[in-house]
Amino acid sequence: MKNERVASCADAFEADAISVDDARKKIFSEIIPIKETEKLAIRNCLKRYLANEVISPIDVPPHTNSAMDGYAVAGKDLPTSEAKIYTVSGASFAGSPSTENYQAGNIIRIMTGGVMPSGTDTVIPQELTEVVGEQSIKIEAEHKMGQNVRHPGEDLTKGSKIFEPGRQLSAADIGILASLGIGEIEVKRRPCIAFFSTGDELRSIGETLKEGEIYDSNRYTLFAMLKNLDVEILDLGVIPDTQEDIQKAFITASEKADLFISTGGVSVGEADFIKPTLKALGNTHFWKIAVKPGRPLTFGDVNKTWFFGLPGNPVAVMVTFLQFVQPAINYLASGNIKKHVTLRAKCSEDIYKRPGRTEYLRGVFEQTATGEFEVKRTGKQGSGILMSMSLANCFIHLPSDSNSVHAGDSVEIQPFSGVI
Ligand code: AMP
Ligand code: MG
Repeated sequence: MKNERVASCADAFEADAISVDDARKKIFSEIIPIKETEKLAIRNCLKRYLANEVISPIDVPPHTNSAMDGYAVAGKDLPTSEAKIYTVSGASFAGSPSTENYQAGNIIRIMTGGVMPSGTDTVIPQELTEVVGEQSIKIEAEHKMGQNVRHPGEDLTKGSKIFEPGRQLSAADIGILASLGIGEIEVKRRPCIAFFSTGDELRSIGETLKEGEIYDSNRYTLFAMLKNLDVEILDLGVIPDTQEDIQKAFITASEKADLFISTGGVSVGEADFIKPTLKALGNTHFWKIAVKPGRPLTFGDVNKTWFFGLPGNPVAVMVTFLQFVQPAINYLASGNIKKHVTLRAKCSEDIYKRPGRTEYLRGVFEQTATGEFEVKRTGKQGSGILMSMSLANCFIHLPSDSNSVHAGDSVEIQPFSGVI
């Protein structure tokens, strides 16, 4: 087996790191979903979570109406063996119904959405008719009674349950609410998410970098990922590496937000104050996960304001946010646990791995001419190489107990589309 290293005691994984599954279980068992609700105009409800079920107050459509532009007739008056000529005796347009009383031998002009005139039950599409005189229409003997007609309640039936509580509203859902005549709806309050970066080496954009300094990118990726989730965002800036400053940031964030996130300072280095601050002010639920990248990841709370201490490395920030923080925020906002969408893909290269921790590699997948998915890594995978995320369109998920992957093996991928 090429490329395989022999595991030694020196690189054994840390025994106190919990598994990815246990970390998720812990997160969902601790977090208490938001209960407060607010009433909003439906236009402002995209991505919001419904507080209550929705029962249809009306039938949609409310009337029997035409599905085509054409002519309305009574099915029992349709030609059976040879073509028949009818007299046009009125018109029914969407929004202005016909007042005619239908009689055998007559036919009524009708447009899509027009109410079916009383006595009619069938629509002949315009393109299947022939004008043979000023008010005379010929119809062949090929039509079925009841065709091209939409019935009341066909889309939504009065009194039926349309949506369950906790549903995240899509554009289609908002259209459905409008078609029911519902202009305002009760939704869950949006969670407020605060975040800050820690690190004396971090400078804001616009400042000149001195030796050893870097621009703070984590607050920008975090802001962008939070923006996708439709939450209230509170950016607390860059916090210097001192116990006092970090403590102040913890207090502000825990007072103002429902959940807060820090990046950096979460290891056990001399300038790593996140762990001791959480210990002093709140509760630590876990602080290490058997995952790569992102092993030192702290989850805790300060007076039930949930806290995630993410690592400093930019890729680790994105991976741990998407794998742990985003599901936590969704759960906080809705009470629902959303699963990642996964696909199987053929890996086109060897990937070295030892069992004992879960790995999320940055991959590019594509569909081959035969319809199969094929995936490979986006080059260098260091947790500081943000370009590996930028180039990726999926994570390659290698479960904890898995070994090295060999070219041609099938692997699980999590496509990013609609995620980042
Ligand atoms: P730390 O976890 O604080 O030891 O940080 C690990 C690495 O991530 C260091 O190389 C940091 O310079 C880098 N890093 C920490 N925070 C940020 C940030 N906000 N933006 C970009 N890089 C960062
Ligand atoms: Mg640091």
